[in-house]
Amino acid sequence: MSSRIQLLSIDFDGTLVSHVGEPALNRQCVELIRELQDVGAIWAINTGRSVDLLESGLTNFEFQIRPDFILTTERDVFRRGGNGDKWEPFGDWNDRCARDHAELFSSAQPVLAEVIDFVTQETKARLIYDSDRLEGLAAENEEEIEHIARFIEQARGGHPKFDYQRNGIYLRFCHTDYHKGAALAELARLVDVARDNIFAAGDHHNDISMLNGKVAAMPSCPANAIPEVQNAVRNAGGYVAQQEHGAGVYEALLHFVKS
Ligand SMILES: [Mg+2]
Repeated sequence: MSSRIQLLSIDFDGTLVSHVGEPALNRQCVELIRELQDVGAIWAINTGRSVDLLESGLTNFEFQIRPDFILTTERDVFRRGGNGDKWEPFGDWNDRCARDHAELFSSAQPVLAEVIDFVTQETKARLIYDSDRLEGLAAENEEEIEHIARFIEQARGGHPKFDYQRNGIYLRFCHTDYHKGAALAELARLVDVARDNIFAAGDHHNDISMLNGKVAAMPSCPANAIPEVQNAVRNAGGYVAQQEHGAGVYEALLHFVKS
């Protein structure tokens, strides 16, 4: 098999795996990823999960294939370590990313304080902390997360670098320069793969930065992707699948493998 796909960037929850129906993993999709890896393509999982949560996901869903790289918490870039088991930072990206976030969260303290007040007083959302730093939040439902996002939009007015990533009812604060698209661009730079040879698939708000055509010339989404994602993929000349989750990723991969 020959294909123009040299790098695959695939979201985990709601894209590669389904949480609503069986089977959670599409066998044909897994098999095609394995075949592409066999002919030299690089497979990265690009997720909002942390390294540990992604590892437990790969175990729980009994993945028979291993990603070559993992892009985690919508910003960090990891490669396989020397012993093939553990993940290690690839280049100095994660250090730069951590530094920029530390600076941002200290300068944007007033915005965060405003958001905390709003969330605790006006909503039932749960604040999520990473040790003592506020990392993000989980809303009760889609309507509430929309309400909170609107508040943050006006509260962050004076801080152009203060941004957030949305995924379902979850929201994570971040520096505007760091997102799935930026992490993918850095990986592509490090492994020297051109935009033309990059396939990406995702289903939610936090995937749009890798599906808008800027980083990957072959963006796609499964049928269960939210309308905003489907529009982004369509506008970028990508492929919106008829099928959901892994079956949709398989369909999109086939489309680009054959094109
Ligand atoms: Mg997802």
